[in-house]
Amino acid sequence: MEVLRVENLCKTYGLGDTRVDALRNVSFSVDKGEFVAIIGPSGSGKSTLLHILGGVDRPSSGQVVIDGTPIYDLNETKMAIFRRRQIGLIYQFYNLLPVLNVRENLTLPLLLDGQKPDEKYLNELTRVLGLKERMNHLPNQLSGGQQQRVSIGRALINHPALVLADEPTGNLDSKNSAEIVELLKESNRQYHQTLIIITHDERIALQADRVISIEDGRISGDQWQTGRQSQA
Ligand code: ADP
Ligand code: ADP
Repeated sequence: MEVLRVENLCKTYGLGDTRVDALRNVSFSVDKGEFVAIIGPSGSGKSTLLHILGGVDRPSSGQVVIDGTPIYDLNETKMAIFRRRQIGLIYQFYNLLPVLNVRENLTLPLLLDGQKPDEKYLNELTRVLGLKERMNHLPNQLSGGQQQRVSIGRALINHPALVLADEPTGNLDSKNSAEIVELLKESNRQYHQTLIIITHDERIALQADRVISIEDGRISGDQWQTGRQSQA
């Protein structure tokens, strides 16, 4: 079942001699439960693509359809709600709110929606993330690896259709990186969650079902890793 369809995306920054065509007619689709790695040289358009998929940056033209909703047809208010419910975004720098503790940061997408967290899932998530003893700490009382675990928990807390991660391990040592990728893979497997990760790290790309390469704003490769094509 298709969860994401990207249609003829173009993104141009700037004007005149500062004009950059960051994305040039990018199209692809992703089925529910796939784990996709996006790779490519620096400046090739990966972050631009992920931000447009996540509804945080508008394309110059083209459309993104998530779970049947053409997201660029939504107005600002509906987009904000859609993003909170259907998209989990994870950045290289954790983007936690410094004045909120771990529990508040984790449950923020629910609080903003006026919902109460499912305590059972929150409990399980914090156990898996190794944050059980840290629920009342502020972000600056945590290590980098722990802060990234909080941002992952926040992205997963309301079971979004799509989890998007931009170099989520770019700041972490190799042990923490491996653990973070394991957490994301586990959620991808257990909840049949669709996971798209931008990465420079070949070890991460090798674990994905499918690798999409971007060069100069275009898709230059789209390959299933042997034996991992979904039967959906
Ligand atoms: P990547 O993530 O692959 O490194 P980006 O998507 O960040 O690539 O950038 C793609 C191109 O768009 C680059 O040439 C970059 O300089 C340009 N770019 C990205 N963001 C902006 C911006 N806000 N304003 C102008 N140019 C930008
Ligand atoms: P990591 O292996 O993730 O890099 P660190 O060596 O940075 O971990 O931190 C080890 C422990 O010290 C962690 O449990 C973390 O919560 C705690 N810690 C780190 N920085 C602080 C701080 N500024 N205040 C309180 N506790 C901290």
